[in-house]
Amino acid sequence: MEMRLLDTMSRETRALSPRDGETYRFYCCGPTVYGPAHIGNFRTFVLQDVFRRSLELSGVATHHVRNLTDVDDKTIRGAQAAGESLNDFTAQWTDKFHADCTALNLLPPHDEPSAVAHVPQQVALIETLMERGHAYASDDGSVYFKVSSFEEYGRLSHLDTRELRLGTSVAVADDEYDKDSVADFALWKGRKEEDGDNFWESPWGQGRPGWHLECSAMCREYLGDTVDLHSGGVDLVFPHHENEIAQSECATGERFADHWFHITHLLVDGGKMSKSVGNLYTLEQLAEKGHTAMQVRYVLIAGLYRQPLNFTLQSLGDAKKALDKIAKAEAALRERAGIDQPDYASLISGDAGSDHFAPAFEALLNDLNTPDALGKIFTAMKAVNAAELSAEQATAELRGMHRVLAALGLELPATDADAGEASDVPDTVRALAEKRVQAKADKDWAAADSLRDEIAAAGWAIKDTADSYELTPKA
Ligand code: AMP
Ligand code: ZN
Repeated sequence: MEMRLLDTMSRETRALSPRDGETYRFYCCGPTVYGPAHIGNFRTFVLQDVFRRSLELSGVATHHVRNLTDVDDKTIRGAQAAGESLNDFTAQWTDKFHADCTALNLLPPHDEPSAVAHVPQQVALIETLMERGHAYASDDGSVYFKVSSFEEYGRLSHLDTRELRLGTSVAVADDEYDKDSVADFALWKGRKEEDGDNFWESPWGQGRPGWHLECSAMCREYLGDTVDLHSGGVDLVFPHHENEIAQSECATGERFADHWFHITHLLVDGGKMSKSVGNLYTLEQLAEKGHTAMQVRYVLIAGLYRQPLNFTLQSLGDAKKALDKIAKAEAALRERAGIDQPDYASLISGDAGSDHFAPAFEALLNDLNTPDALGKIFTAMKAVNAAELSAEQATAELRGMHRVLAALGLELPATDADAGEASDVPDTVRALAEKRVQAKADKDWAAADSLRDEIAAAGWAIKDTADSYELTPKA
């Protein structure tokens, strides 16, 4: 079965197949590395990850590129406030982002280019745009894209052309350097004093590249003139993606992307996330409250990508219960199949031959319907539980179950049976283990080590797992 997905540009749900017949090439706009990513950012990255996993498990090879935005107003201001070089500052936040991605079980992209490392490609792209009459330099050494030179501008966001001519929405939506009341946007920003050491040489003088330009340049560098798909959060449709299309198509004369995949925003307690309201959660803050990254992942995939999703702390508690339930059902099915320790790779490869879990995987191929897939996993668990199954049939169902779990990127918590973890872990030991989770979240390694010693002294061994811990009585 082929995967189908809604395309933001045509508003049609279309089958996905690689242009070159071999590898599906897609580009995701990456994080701005000036602080910790919040769970809204991760809604987008997790859904892109489920998209990739589902496509690969349906038998299509992928080439996934996701950039790092490591030069813009926010990163420069952040580095200056921290008294660090731009590179040192963004390197720390990149490391933090990678650690969060690992905790959330996100597959690393095949390429992760940084904007700073691709300034020559960006300068070359501007030169092409100038030669072709789509860009002009201004007195302060900046270069602007001439929106009126690209007739199709606004096609992705279905913008009213009159509104565009007036330039109202454009000037407001673009960032600080843009000209007032003019639709044109900056490709190159002439050096300003407040940028400090953060400038590069160019034919138009010293300065730095505009944000929209970096994605056009890096997408082309790694994936060619036309990609199979381009993706980001819905806030990027306009102006970022609209501007990327304009830059790329005017430079190459080719269509930029065959398909556009946008993820609708995550809301918190029914409203927009914001620092000032104090509802902007990071993984670290949620870990401090005792919630695992896998629970966060579950909450983020529990809603359909093209509808808003409301996040509450309560939903994390529900996610824990759901994951525990799935883990129990998986352990029971494994027992019926006579499999002790599953070899996950072999379980998910090839056609699962499962009667009950196949519809859950198919739900993902049908416009990435993650809530439907989760619902169908629970339906299948019930059906399998009630059915008479031979060991062979149980193995097939187990394969089907692991296939859809792998597509969703869900790793299951250890069950009591698995870990040999007695449910009679004393409360005192459990409390020490929880304190250690907190110490690790605080990066207080000394405290974490001494808590491990205390747990050992009480006769228990603690082992870290992907998203939690296991306690076993010491022999
Ligand atoms: P940024 O780090 O701001 O460049 O954003 C990284 C990605 O997160 C982009 O694809 C954004 O569109 C996306 N994003 C930002 N806020 C949210 C949100 N509340 N819900 C979903 N995605 C978001
Ligand atoms: Zn981008």
